[in-house]
Amino acid sequence: MFAPYCPTCRKRMLLGPRRIVAADLSAQPMAVTVRCFCGTVVAADNPVPANPPALPRRADPRRVA
Ligand SMILES: [Zn+2]
Repeated sequence: MFAPYCPTCRKRMLLGPRRIVAADLSAQPMAVTVRCFCGTVVAADNPVPANPPALPRRADPRRVA
């Protein structure tokens, strides 16, 4: 199983070996690419970003435009 961060789903996704779309066994370390359930292709070890993009927020009524 893999648990890469999916930038489309904005969270780590648990993906099984059937989600593998490519594997470069000659790379060091081995490079495995998987497809998320949403269709996004990511590296199997894609880390969670330090500052994940914020979800779109509703306009803050207190903010003056
Ligand atoms: Zn996804």
